[in-house]
Amino acid sequence: MSSDEIIMTAEPSHLRSVAAKPKRAAARIITELCTGCGICVKTCPINCITIVESELNFTGIAKVDENCTGCNICAIDCPWTGVEMINPDGSRKDEVEYERQLKKLRGYH
Ligand code: SF4
Ligand code: SF4
Repeated sequence: MSSDEIIMTAEPSHLRSVAAKPKRAAARIITELCTGCGICVKTCPINCITIVESELNFTGIAKVDENCTGCNICAIDCPWTGVEMINPDGSRKDEVEYERQLKKLRGYH
């Protein structure tokens, strides 16, 4: 029996729902590449990106909040490759996956 299964069966129900929450990737802004253009702000389907002030440029930089679903759309749409997707284990999601996701979104497969 894995440690996850032990948590699922041994914890009270209010903790079980937290333990069962699926882990997912999340968007992270590469601040050196972000121009603050705001495209990701418009394309994020759940409006979890805002432009915040930054010393890096006059227009500010994007900031992702904790509600990110990991859908990849901002990473696909950023014209400056200023978004990377980080897996739950901290590794970076391969850009090939963005391409696959883009084709899926546009009905190419
Ligand atoms: S689309 Fe890219 S460059 Fe533009 S604000 Fe978002 S992360 Fe920054
Ligand atoms: S990965 Fe999806 S939900 Fe997360 S910030 Fe980008 S567009 Fe929004």
